[in-house]
Amino acid sequence: MLVGITVAEIFLDSIENAISEVISVMSTIDTALKANEMYAERYDPALGRRPAPKLAIVTCMDPRLTGVLEALGLKSGDAHVIRNAGTTVTEDVIRSLLVSTCVLGSREILIVNHTGCGMMTFKDDELQAKLRQSSGTAVVEPARFFSFVDLEEDTREQVQKVRSHPWIAKEIPIRGVVFDVETGKMKEVASLS
Ligand SMILES: [Zn+2]
Repeated sequence: MLVGITVAEIFLDSIENAISEVISVMSTIDTALKANEMYAERYDPALGRRPAPKLAIVTCMDPRLTGVLEALGLKSGDAHVIRNAGTTVTEDVIRSLLVSTCVLGSREILIVNHTGCGMMTFKDDELQAKLRQSSGTAVVEPARFFSFVDLEEDTREQVQKVRSHPWIAKEIPIRGVVFDVETGKMKEVASLS
């Protein structure tokens, strides 16, 4: 019985945690939507014109990369920014890069990895095992999370994955940099033209 109570307590705890997380997410969104009303009042309709992006950037979803255009002296219309966990060139990133370069006119591709990436804090198989164990049920799961160990090596790998794709035009240079979250500097670690 004691074991049963403990399990029930853990279960209730996790439900409470989940509910409080949902409440805090909702309140952030509510605040954000309120702020948007003010934003829209000052919005310049000229920003809605069709952009002419010069390059496509692949980077991480890490909040510190939200200012990636500013860090490169670019304006919002200058680039397509494709983001995911860990700056991983997946099939879907290739899809976006093809649309960017073949349809919408961008002429260069930049991969921006960064120091302190959360994808270096775990191993795919460990996370997978932990999630499987915690849910205890069969689910649709990602084939890979693409965690990595060596930042520069991973950046070069992503550059190679784009370069070797036969549908990405050979004239499009593909370069890879590491953004240092401490200094704001970008260090180039790969370039394949
Ligand atoms: Zn990251």
